[in-house]
Amino acid sequence: MLIDNHNRIINYLRLAVTDRCNLRCHYCMPSEGINFVKNDELLTIEELKILSKTMVDQGIDKIRITGGEPFVRKDLMDLLRYISQLRDLKELSITTNATLIGPHIDELKALGIQNINLSLDAINRETFEKITRRDQYDVVHGNMMRLIEEGFNVRINFIVLEDQNIQDIIPILKLQETYPVAVRFLEEMPFNGGSKNFNTITWNYKTILEYIKGFYPNFEKLAAPKTSTSINYKIPGHQGTFGLIPSFSRTFCGSCNRLRITATGDVITCLYGKPKMNLRSLLRDNYLESDLKAAIQYTIGNRAKTGFDAQREHKNVFQNSMTSIGG
Ligand code: SAM
Ligand code: SF4
Repeated sequence: MLIDNHNRIINYLRLAVTDRCNLRCHYCMPSEGINFVKNDELLTIEELKILSKTMVDQGIDKIRITGGEPFVRKDLMDLLRYISQLRDLKELSITTNATLIGPHIDELKALGIQNINLSLDAINRETFEKITRRDQYDVVHGNMMRLIEEGFNVRINFIVLEDQNIQDIIPILKLQETYPVAVRFLEEMPFNGGSKNFNTITWNYKTILEYIKGFYPNFEKLAAPKTSTSINYKIPGHQGTFGLIPSFSRTFCGSCNRLRITATGDVITCLYGKPKMNLRSLLRDNYLESDLKAAIQYTIGNRAKTGFDAQREHKNVFQNSMTSIGG
């Protein structure tokens, strides 16, 4: 079992499989001049398999595949086939922009991968194109509807962006009136690879909830596991649920159970901190399982207590980009 220096059990791995993406969401990465890593710095599928297996052997029982956009990686399904059969893994899930998932939906279902987090920050084409800088709205919307029809557990992640998609909050919320999906509103974080710098946000989880209350005053708070990052609600008579993720306000650090590994093998023990170690050379040069396990144990034994503590590792603007961290 992995237990950190603040006595928190770490059982959840967010594994980024690439830093590449076919969209350019402005809150995540700049439009140009992105420093994508060289191909040989990305972990290979075989290395990702070893890493996943080692982590599961050490007590990880939930893995989320993220990126960049996981499905830009042509060999992704090979990795998913492998991870989905790891005996001690209880949950395998994917975070995706849903542009490329279409041809894989049947196989994902066959592999028993149920949980799909789908990022969608607009429910109309024009706003979608402004935010993502790409013309993919119809594809994403079509794939989302297919995933819902096929019975996947779909969670829609919507980042609330001042002056950009406020008008879409209620229309996207309405999806959960008709369909059994969870619509989750996220606070924006200042991570887009270097150009964003803010110390406060107008649309925090409290403001978002107040706004929703103006339209739907009768909602009930749902019980959630201690480690959940979302605060979840149900509107009576609606099929699904909605939630708020205070990713900027960081109300959930005390029960954080997660570890992030980037596509180059960097270990990130807090989203707001800097990478703590790189595992790539350990996986490549004279690989020894015991060395890899010891390295993982070391990083977990040296975690910041909160995202506010970890943030002090940065000066001014965050260099972090979500496309390398994976969200
Ligand atoms: N490409 C996939 C996608 O968009 O779902 C997976 C990777 S993306 C980096 C993972 C999550 O991070 C997405 O839900 C995205 O909305 C979120 N994200 C990216 N940049 C963010 C930011 N600056 N603040 C808050 N969330 C962010
Ligand atoms: Fe790509 Fe996801 Fe980042 Fe958007 S949020 S640019 S879809 S990695």
